[in-house]
Formats: sequence, structure tokens, C-alpha cells
Amino acid sequence: MLLFCNNNNSNNYKNRMNIKLKNQIKWKRRSGVISEPTESLEDDVNVYFAKTKGEQNLIRMALQSNEFLSHIIKEKRLQQFIDCMYTQQVSEGELLTREGETGSHLYISNTGIFEVIIQEVSVNTFSDVRVFGELSILYSAKRHATIKCLRGGSVWVLDCSTAIEEQEEMVSFLKKVPTLNTATKEHLYQVANLLRSEFFPAFKEIIKQGEVGDKFYIIRAGGVTVLKNSVKVAYLSKGQFFGEISLLRDDFRQATVVADAPGTECLTLTRKEFIDHFGEVEEFINFKLQYTYRNEVIEYMDFELDDFDVLKTLGVGGFGRVKLIQHKYYKDQVFALKCMSKIDIISRSCQDQIYNEKNLQMACKSSFIVRLHRTFRDFKYVYLLLEVCYGGDLWNHLYRQKRGCFAEPAAKFYSGCIIKALEYLHNRNIIYRDLKPENVMIHSNGYLKLTDFGFAKKTDSKENTYTFVGTAEYVAPEIILNKGYNREVDYWALGVFIFELLVGRTPFRTNDPCHLKTYNLILKGIDHVKFPYYVSSKAKNLIKKLCTQSPSERLGGQKGRIEDIKSQPWFSSLNWFKLENFELAPPFKPILQNNVDTKYFEELEELNTVPLDDLSAWDSEF
Ligand code: ATP
Ligand code: MG
Repeated sequence: MLLFCNNNNSNNYKNRMNIKLKNQIKWKRRSGVISEPTESLEDDVNVYFAKTKGEQNLIRMALQSNEFLSHIIKEKRLQQFIDCMYTQQVSEGELLTREGETGSHLYISNTGIFEVIIQEVSVNTFSDVRVFGELSILYSAKRHATIKCLRGGSVWVLDCSTAIEEQEEMVSFLKKVPTLNTATKEHLYQVANLLRSEFFPAFKEIIKQGEVGDKFYIIRAGGVTVLKNSVKVAYLSKGQFFGEISLLRDDFRQATVVADAPGTECLTLTRKEFIDHFGEVEEFINFKLQYTYRNEVIEYMDFELDDFDVLKTLGVGGFGRVKLIQHKYYKDQVFALKCMSKIDIISRSCQDQIYNEKNLQMACKSSFIVRLHRTFRDFKYVYLLLEVCYGGDLWNHLYRQKRGCFAEPAAKFYSGCIIKALEYLHNRNIIYRDLKPENVMIHSNGYLKLTDFGFAKKTDSKENTYTFVGTAEYVAPEIILNKGYNREVDYWALGVFIFELLVGRTPFRTNDPCHLKTYNLILKGIDHVKFPYYVSSKAKNLIKKLCTQSPSERLGGQKGRIEDIKSQPWFSSLNWFKLENFELAPPFKPILQNNVDTKYFEELEELNTVPLDDLSAWDSEF
């Protein structure tokens, strides 16, 4: 659907109307009840000492203001540490630590005066609240100083011997996980601090085959039964783990895992928690090798095209096909490869457009934009290595709805995702210029991602642009009038987009293949468009404000910019904070069997024809 460079619009349209609804597969949920060997749970080793709120705060502040501890004790464990500390009276002359000796207690001074002695020389005294002996949290470390009580008082004490054992045990578990075993021990100590203990009663389904998950589990006590297609395939016990791929990406659970009697305790970790603390797992373990080339970070630099198996065509684009590819060796590495014929690009003089697409999309790192990891080239094609969006494109999903349109809550959620994408782009002075459901993908978590940056453009926010680009039904009047335009064209398109989601067609659609009639309707304006009765007045109001003829009067065209759109009454029931944090349940969440499941894509005929070689070097930067 490229207006500017692509002339097969009507074909595309027809193709799309001919979608085979092959996606009617019925999913059977398996729920097995199994009774298998039991193993008694370990006793809880933690001993808790009651404290007042004031005492808790004092300890918390001391732990948090200690640079070393603040790195390694995060929220959940912090409270555990506080709970386990107890008070101890100290009298004048008493030694709390002795230089050179190993110790397994951590202290926080409460009252009294203390002296720090190193090599028999007094180097300091202190009477404030502070932590000492903190290395003992990691291991029984040699004390680097003697701490002597000069005036009697009290200290808080933590016996780290149990904490060390616990942590050593966790690290030994983590060491066995292939996804993490190249990380250093120091790093694994930090990961251990994020692990959360969860108990699953007997026969509880911990994960279900086919569901998408982002949580990883290590069995700490008890056992689990693993079932594939309702057949028992394995039993796992203490120290064994499952769901580890979910640390790397949304994991399509390959099996169902059920807790054995009398119940199972697991140490769990979600990818989000991991990323919040350490960034992407792949970077953490140095797997996703990154190189910097001309100030640009290039991901997956070690991968070659030959390393991949081409599995299936996911979609057809203006210059070629988008294919699902899987790494031959690392089977969890699956991508969408957009292949664009170089000879076609040259014959339509679209080289600049393709460079634009590469440069702009690669520079975008937003959860609401499809990630372009890197590019490749050969004699026939240039290639974009993209993250896969397993839910297919929004166009397919929209027209697969029984009513041919979405209910308002779904349309609101989807528009919210797009607004987040536009906000990201506009903050970077990028105009998108091709908003439409075909360019919006559904991620496996059910949230939307914008893709196809063929028309995106970096602009000075004050300087107008004149090129005529876009998709006929979506172009803003100022583009047709050739008056010069800016980011407000995306807000116009947003109005058209919301209308299409709610009604199942765009407001200015005609059956004129040359689009002239469509342009005329656009110039006549939204006030001439009849809204179906079921569109609420708040939605109608919003669409009208977005489809205002004059860009400066358009919603989003004033000082408040995109914030003005977000605060419209129609969006008052959308929690933007939760949307940004993926805490809202999406209207639809793909259910996938594995990481090569393409059931949300149309069945497309695989072509054997290949374009002629192009030996010119216009694409040398790919
Ligand atoms: P057109 O201009 O005709 O829209 P295009 O050349 O711009 O095509 P894209 O829109 O990027 O190509 O991709 C074409 C189709 O391929 C999409 O509509 C979608 O179905 C599929 N596709 C693209 N990117 C991905 C992806 N990351 N994951 C899964 N499918 C994708
Ligand atoms: Mg497209």
C-alpha cells in the first residue's frame, strides 16, 4: 500500500480481502490431575525477631545507605534482613570484630561509641548508626579492622551464616541454568537476590503448555511432573528448573508443569524484574553481541543469513516478502526477515526511502515499535532483521472480528498503544506518515507495535515537509494541498485509525482506484462523514478533533501536543500508567504453541521466482 512507490495497491487490497480464515484451530486446554511421589518440604530456616516500626526504619536506612549492600539487597530481601536482625548489648572494651579473623555476623551500631583499629592503630571512632562487617553477607570474609566498643551501648546483629548458605545454594542452582551459566559469580549473587520464593500446592498447574509466560522457575523443595500433550514426560526435583527461555523472550510454554504432592516450593524470577535490574538478559550474559559501527550499536552482529532456516512467509510488502526465520543452532532465536528486492527499489528510485526505513527504525528502541536489530545485503536483496510479532498485523485481526470492528474498550487500548509509539517518535522529531492497521503488529503479549518505517522522516519540528506520501485513505488534507506539513499529519491519521477500528472502514473510503474521490472527501472534511449510531459521543468528538482540517487547530497541534490527546474524555477510562507498564489486560492475547507458530498470519503462497541481481553498491551501508 505504498502510494508513492508502489503500484500494486489494488492487488494488495484484494489479497487482503481474500484472507483465508485458517486460524480457527480449536485449542484444547489440558488439565491433568496427577498423584506422584512425595517429598517433605524443608523447614523454614529463617528466624524472625519482632521490632517496632521505628527500629525497622532505622535498620532499613542503615542498610540502604551502605553502598555495597544497597547494590546487593533489593526490596524483597531487605525486609527479610530487617526481620532477621536482633539486638545485642555491648559493654565498654568489648571487641565486635577482630582484624584478620573471619566472621559471619553483620552489625549496625545503634547506641554507644565505637573505635576502628587497623594494625593496632586507632583510625577512627564513630557513634552514628552505621553498618559494619558487611562483607560477611557474601561469605565468611576476613575482617579488615577491629571494632572495639569505647562506650557501652547496643548493636543490631545479623547472623549471616544462614543467609550465606541460602545464597550459595541459589547461586549453585543458577549456575546450572544454560541461559545464565556464562555470567560471573558476582552477577549470579545479584540475580539470587531477585529470586522470590513461591509455594504451589499439590497438583497445581504451575505453567500450561501453549501459554506465553515470562517467568522462570527453580525447584527449591518438592518436585514437579512435566506433561506434553497430557502425557507425562519427566519429573523434576530440587535444583532443577523450567521456563528458562522466558528470561530471554516471551516463552511459549512447551509443556505443562504440575506440582507434586504435598506441594512444591519454587524460586521464581520474571524477565521484567530481571530487565529492571540488569537490562536485557542477553546483554547481561554477553550473548547478544553488540558492536558499535559509526556510533551505531549493531545487534546480533555474529549472525549470518546462512545461519538461519527460512520457515514461512509472514507477509507481503511493497518490495518483497517478510519471512519467519529460525537460527539453525540456537532454536530460540527466531526473527522476521523483511527481504526487499534491490532491482525493484532501484527501478522505483526508492533508495532513500529504504535507507530512511533502516536508519530510523534501527534508532528506535521502544516497546511500542517493532525492533529492527540489524540489516544484511546480498546481490538480490537488502534485508531487515526484525523482532517477530506473533499476533500478526492489526488489519488481519480487525477484519477477523465477527462484527468487522472493535468494541470501544479494545479500540481504546489499541489507540493507546499507537499514541505511545507516536509520542516516542515525535519526541525524537520523527514523523511516521503511514499509520494504518496493516503497519501495526500484535506482539505476543497482546500489545501493539508500529512497524514499516518506509515513510518515516526526521524533521526539524519547525520546518515543514512537502513530499506527498501516505496511504490514500489516511493522508491529511495539508498533504493533498501541498501546503507543507509536519507531525500533525500523524494526528489526522490517528483520527482515521480510531474511526476504522470502531467502524470497520475508514471515514473517507471510496471505491475509486485512483483515490481522487477519496481526496475530495478528505478535503470536504469530517463534518460530512456520517458516524454509525454505535460510536459513542466521546469517541466521535475525539475523532472530529483529530480530523480537523487546519493542522494548527487540530488536537495535538497546540502547545500541549500529544498530552492533549491523552487527556481527552474518551481516554479517561484508560490508565496510561498501567498501559506503559504492560499492566492492562489486552483485548486479545495470542495463544501460541511454540516460537514458530504462525497461525495468526494469512496463508500465503510461497514464490520461487527471484529478482535479477543488482551489482551497484547503493546499499553498501546495509
Ligand atoms: P506495504 O507497504 O505493502 O505495507 P511493506 O513493504 O511496507 O508493505 P511491511 O508493512 O513492513 O512491508 O510488512 C508487510 C507485512 O509483513 C505486514 O503487514 C505483516 O503482516 C508482516 N510483517 C512485517 N513485519 C513483521 C514482523 N516484525 N513480525 C511479523 N510479521 C511481520
Ligand atoms: Mg506496510
